[in-house]
Amino acid sequence: MKLPSSHQPEAIGRIHRPSPPSPSKGAWQARDDAHPGRIHRPSPPSPSKGAWQTRSFWLARESYAPQPSLDTSTRCDIVIVGAGFTGLWTALMLYEADPALDIVVLEAQVAGYGASGRNGGFAMTMVGRNIYDLARKVGRKRALATHLAMRRALAEIEAFSVKEGIPADIANTGVLTVSNGPEQDVRIRQDLDAAGQLGLDDFEALDTRQCQELVRSPRLRMGHFERDCLLVDPAALARGLRDAALRRGIRIYEQTPVDQVHEIAGHRVEARTPFGTVHADRALLATNAYAATIPALRRFIFTIYASIVLTEPLDTGQWERVGWERRMGVEDKRIMPHFHRPTADGRILWGGRDAPISAGPPNARYDHLPRIYARLEESFRWNFPQLRDVRFAHAWSGPVCGTLNGFASVGFLGASERIAYALGYTGHGVGQTKLAASAAADLLLTRDSPLLDLPLVTKAPMPVGPGPLRPVGLSIASWLQERLQKADDEGTDRGPLVKAALKALQ
Ligand SMILES: Cc1cc2nc3c(=O)[nH]c(=O)nc-3n(C[C@H](O)[C@H](O)[C@H](O)COP(=O)(O)OP(=O)(O)OC[C@H]3O[C@@H](n4cnc5c(N)ncnc54)[C@H](O)[C@@H]3O)c2cc1C
Repeated sequence: MKLPSSHQPEAIGRIHRPSPPSPSKGAWQARDDAHPGRIHRPSPPSPSKGAWQTRSFWLARESYAPQPSLDTSTRCDIVIVGAGFTGLWTALMLYEADPALDIVVLEAQVAGYGASGRNGGFAMTMVGRNIYDLARKVGRKRALATHLAMRRALAEIEAFSVKEGIPADIANTGVLTVSNGPEQDVRIRQDLDAAGQLGLDDFEALDTRQCQELVRSPRLRMGHFERDCLLVDPAALARGLRDAALRRGIRIYEQTPVDQVHEIAGHRVEARTPFGTVHADRALLATNAYAATIPALRRFIFTIYASIVLTEPLDTGQWERVGWERRMGVEDKRIMPHFHRPTADGRILWGGRDAPISAGPPNARYDHLPRIYARLEESFRWNFPQLRDVRFAHAWSGPVCGTLNGFASVGFLGASERIAYALGYTGHGVGQTKLAASAAADLLLTRDSPLLDLPLVTKAPMPVGPGPLRPVGLSIASWLQERLQKADDEGTDRGPLVKAALKALQ
């Protein structure tokens, strides 16, 4: 199949529509094709060597030597497309299950180039929108099984990183979830009730004073503290996973974009790249938001551009003004939440709030969104008025793979079960990718396992809408989100239309 020579990106919600990117400048090429597993790539592979370094503070922090590109056709047992957390953890889980497996990972750019090297570094137990949402949508038994599986996944991330000596500044700090307004108070109580009904003892209710003792902000009204949450340097973790995989003999080819993944007569698969073809028994698509060009997957995923601003290192006096001795991650309960955390080198990372949605795959034009950074800085100053003198030094954005109900999905494309996929973590994939990878490894090895009963695998994805309806459906979802947030911020009624639409979506 020949790639199209140009591609008009679909309408972008809530940011100005750009002029179409030129393929010669690295635009993602997309084509609707009814064949499962066909995949498209950025073309040409990389605008310039080292372009990844400009994508986040984390990716720029240390120098990095990519693995060589594929230079000839080859054979293996399992080929994985994408070297983010999903692809790398799955490769490692497959190796753990059977060290004799020959595994190849193909990455269009470098390990961690996507969301994995750009995120806030919160590895949380969260699946769905929160513990209340999880219990409501999958029932108590499955919610409990999922939560406990996530706790194990976080423990495994930490243990593996320690064992392998991965310098990802992993800190087991827990996460403080806070309310800044009456609507958010309700959500805090809902989480606590849900956790209580599941019999969990890992959510602690906190009043205003207790919240403000942990982090000094006059905006905090109440909250809960969940003890299981890691803070990580995400790019260092992705690179550490890459190195651990290489030490095990897993072959990783970076700067090797995959054009197509084909199934051959239901018996084997081929992953085609400009430099050669990888022939394998099975394949995993671990391309997250970039999978939005694959018709069977784009049915239920879309791209959300999430943003982060990062301060300069705070001095001792500035840290004293904010307290925060336990240095935990903090997230608020807005519909479009803020998340913030200290970094190991003494900065504050502040992210979230506005997150434009696109019906198409990630477009590197949205890797830098200055209008959003200005609004993030504004909400940082609102939250921490005592830190007016703290300056911002870095800002970046990246593609999150969204689903309408906030649930990730692991499964097969097509009845012959040769091509699997794992994606859709909707902004909470640092922890979930570990669980998804374990489930994907079980699927690929056709091993029975309790993980295959989790909603991640069994819950049918919620369709976004086909063809031309897709951008319309997403624009409505985006409008709904903004209206809800506005009503919350202003303390006004949501209105009957918004209430009805919300009910239909839930
Ligand atoms: C700004 C931001 C903040 C976030 N904060 C958090 C947070 O604090 N906590 C949390 O849990 N989650 C967070 N997330 C989400 C989290 O980062 C993701 O859920 C997670 O990293 C997904 O990992 P992945 O491996 O599935 O996808 P990705 O990391 O996106 O990896 C996909 C990889 O596939 C490669 N690829 C794509 N197409 C091809 C092709 N054709 N051929 C070869 N390779 C290809 C890409 O280059 C990329 O490296 C955040 C995301 C962003 C953007």
